[in-house]
Amino acid sequence: MAPEAAVPPEARRRAGRLREELHHANYLYHVLDAPELSDDAYDRLLRELEELEARHPRLRTKDSPTRTVGARGAAFFRKWRHHTPMLSLQDAFDLAEVDQFFARVERLLPEVRDFVSELKIDGLAISLTYEAGRLTRAATRGDGVTGEDVTANVRTLQDVPAELSPTGPVRLPPLVEVRGEVYLPRSAFLRLNEAQDAAGQPPYANPRNAAAGSLRQQDPRVTAARGLRTWTYQVDPPPDGVETQSAALHALRTLGLPVEPHSARVSDAAQAHAQIARWHEARHGLDYDTDGLVIKVDRLRDRAELGAVSRHPRWAIAYKFPPEASVTQVVAIDVHIGRTGVATPVAQLRPVAVAGSTVQHATLHNEDEVARKDVRVGDTVRVHKAGDVIPEIEQVLLELRPAGAAPFRMPERCPECDHELVREAGEVARRCPNPLCPAQRREHLLHLVGRDGFDIRGLGPSVVDQLLSRQLVRDPSDLFRLGAADLAGLDGFAERSARQLAAAIGNRRRVELARFLTALGIRHVGTHTARLLAQHFGTLERIRRAGAEALAQVPGVGPVVGPAVALFLSGEGATLVDSLLGAGVEPVEAAVTSGPWRGRSVVLTGTLVAMTRAEAESRIAALGGTAASSVSRKTAFVVAGANPGTKRERAGRLGVPILDEEAFRDALAHPDRPLASEGAAGEE
Ligand code: NAD
Repeated sequence: MAPEAAVPPEARRRAGRLREELHHANYLYHVLDAPELSDDAYDRLLRELEELEARHPRLRTKDSPTRTVGARGAAFFRKWRHHTPMLSLQDAFDLAEVDQFFARVERLLPEVRDFVSELKIDGLAISLTYEAGRLTRAATRGDGVTGEDVTANVRTLQDVPAELSPTGPVRLPPLVEVRGEVYLPRSAFLRLNEAQDAAGQPPYANPRNAAAGSLRQQDPRVTAARGLRTWTYQVDPPPDGVETQSAALHALRTLGLPVEPHSARVSDAAQAHAQIARWHEARHGLDYDTDGLVIKVDRLRDRAELGAVSRHPRWAIAYKFPPEASVTQVVAIDVHIGRTGVATPVAQLRPVAVAGSTVQHATLHNEDEVARKDVRVGDTVRVHKAGDVIPEIEQVLLELRPAGAAPFRMPERCPECDHELVREAGEVARRCPNPLCPAQRREHLLHLVGRDGFDIRGLGPSVVDQLLSRQLVRDPSDLFRLGAADLAGLDGFAERSARQLAAAIGNRRRVELARFLTALGIRHVGTHTARLLAQHFGTLERIRRAGAEALAQVPGVGPVVGPAVALFLSGEGATLVDSLLGAGVEPVEAAVTSGPWRGRSVVLTGTLVAMTRAEAESRIAALGGTAASSVSRKTAFVVAGANPGTKRERAGRLGVPILDEEAFRDALAHPDRPLASEGAAGEE
């Protein structure tokens, strides 16, 4: 073991802070039913502490939250010592950790073949003692060893029988303990919060806390009125002849206890993955919250042999559905100069998975926003994706702030060109006013060739940087004058790749009018407005001649954007447009009135990474298609993003083509191409 002195002071400090924060969170969550941290934030901090302790075993303390379960209960309940401790479950945050669970079981007990997957109900654990078939005690988990006696309250729950059903083949030992989860259905949760609101009481944060708060009432009549429900999943000792988890679930049902109906037998990691994939979206259709799946070894004898480590049994794992948010640390705050010169502070983060992708930075928008959230370098922060795509810092965990972390100060000068940054009265943003600022030119060019603009493949940031620094491109129109010979000299280019890129640029000279307008980078004009303008006027010439008023009258454009477009096209933009036309660029009308998308229906399922649902739908609509919600034989194709739902399966059954996000974006980028037909489907 490493000597005491080998533990870096930083690690020791962090562990101490994490312990404190987690103890406090446990108290708020388990005793007061009023957490301040989200569950995934709690889980991540706990994992971080576990990892620190694993790396530096000297940091382990006896009362560390990594070794204890829950928290001691509230004073007004009598204590109840559990027959056997109520443990926690080991978490798996991704599929690889599920695989490790299967590998570990196989290593320890190679003969194990059967597992059961159950939904992990997001309520609170309950222990029900039945003596001679009658309910004599009900207790919460408490700290795992001692719980709170909530018998009087549990007696009011309609689906917990006071007496087990005496009939049937199940022979019960004289005393059994049934374990399960008490939860509040979502519908009851909504009703409860409405009532809280009407009574001037604060609302509950989520159904889990509402369930815990409702069960742990001093007055059982309050509990009775809340509509709590129960799912049970364990009975100890098992009735005669019950040797597996599956048989135990069946026995519980026979005894008249409620058992969640979606458990499934699985025999390996691949089948567990399939269950996870199935429930990732399908769980949203249930009337109760689930936060994951519990995979359990089926045979009870094998479980006894596998045993437990500190706070978890070895025979089960709780896969947690990926959080919509996560926790990480701010490594630095950089200032990014955008296409219009706006200086945006950006937090550089320790990479972390958020809603299906790795996040390394999050915009902080402007200096007021940084000050409001008080984000500092070294802070531990909670990150989510706004509108499902843009990483954003939601909250700073102030308790974890390192000593001496200084408030962020916006630089006075542009980090790219050293020009003084200006903040105009009434504006929240500081800008670099230097039109020759290299950062602005770079961003402008990247926007122009980007996915929503000319969509030139192979022209990413590193190529654009080289084109600018070697002065091959001074003005955007220079791009369209580049030949293969110019490109062949760039780093990473051979003759063939240079020819390909030159051809790709050449091919995009003929570009749909809406893309051309988007590429110009007119303030307020994104893909949607560009498409409205293109559809309304049909040609660039007509748009240039239209004038502010006519532009403003286009439905969906309005009095702010219309004049901005007119101003741009008659001022700074005129030179840009002329130079692009001069270089052979030819904006063409988008074929919306006909075109392969017209009248066709497209169904979206799962999460798209590069665009929001709304954006995808508006792009389909702009091409004349409709985004439909259900799959039929007439559906043109289904777009399956990450973790697609049952719509993908249905499409597979009906033989409807399935496109992944990449193929979908490709189809959007080439709206004149025939739509995917059977052979082109990405399926199987
Ligand atoms: P856990 O949530 O990982 O899993 C254990 C619990 O899962 C069991 O005790 C049981 O009650 C429940 N469960 C649900 N369905 C089950 C099934 N089918 N089979 C077996 N068990 C099932 O571990 P935990 O020790 O209960 O952790 C506490 C939870 O509370 C964590 O999710 C954590 O995020 C949360 N928590 C949050 C805060 C906070 O501040 N937000 C603080 C403390 C704990």
